[in-house]
Amino acid sequence: MRLICIGRNYGEHAKELGNAVPDEPVIFLKPESALIAQGGPIVLPAFSNDVHHEIELVYRFARINGRPMADGVTIGLDLTARDVQEQLKKKGLPWEKAKAFDGSAYVALPFLGEEALAQRPHTFSLKKNGTVVQDGNSGQMIFDLPTLIAHVDKYMRIETGDLLFTGTPAGVGPLKAGDSLEGYMLGELLFEIQVEGPTP
Ligand code: MG
Repeated sequence: MRLICIGRNYGEHAKELGNAVPDEPVIFLKPESALIAQGGPIVLPAFSNDVHHEIELVYRFARINGRPMADGVTIGLDLTARDVQEQLKKKGLPWEKAKAFDGSAYVALPFLGEEALAQRPHTFSLKKNGTVVQDGNSGQMIFDLPTLIAHVDKYMRIETGDLLFTGTPAGVGPLKAGDSLEGYMLGELLFEIQVEGPTP
């Protein structure tokens, strides 16, 4: 199982970080070891002073008759050490230290099935300490789900069980110890998680 992630897939988010809107999807990976246990907590890494929340729609795939089909959807967090990423970006280096560290991904389980998949758009939001900080929907994606699937599959065959993080809307920001996050999709609370400081 892989966590396949798309970057810069919402125009307002690309702008807020000073990035150009891409002309094709930006792809990166997180290892399975990045996953945070259900219910948390998020433990901030000691090597960063600026870990950002990025709430994203996450689709799960099954490969049926040779074609990858989404068979579940939920929301997740693509946690990003923004200070580390900025340094890597300046040097033109890969993003793994900023994006793929232990505890950098959360996926709210269980996945929602056919009924949720059939709804459009997929609305979602993130509350930090009770205030909505990010709010988006699948209709705002620069590259929609079928485009992303076709593009990713061209480079790395999407297998059953693979997850696709589809990018974050505007409003990303730093986490600190003691923060409390709530994630919503289609108006339902799908996760609540606490943030803790680095383990001494
Ligand atoms: Mg992201």
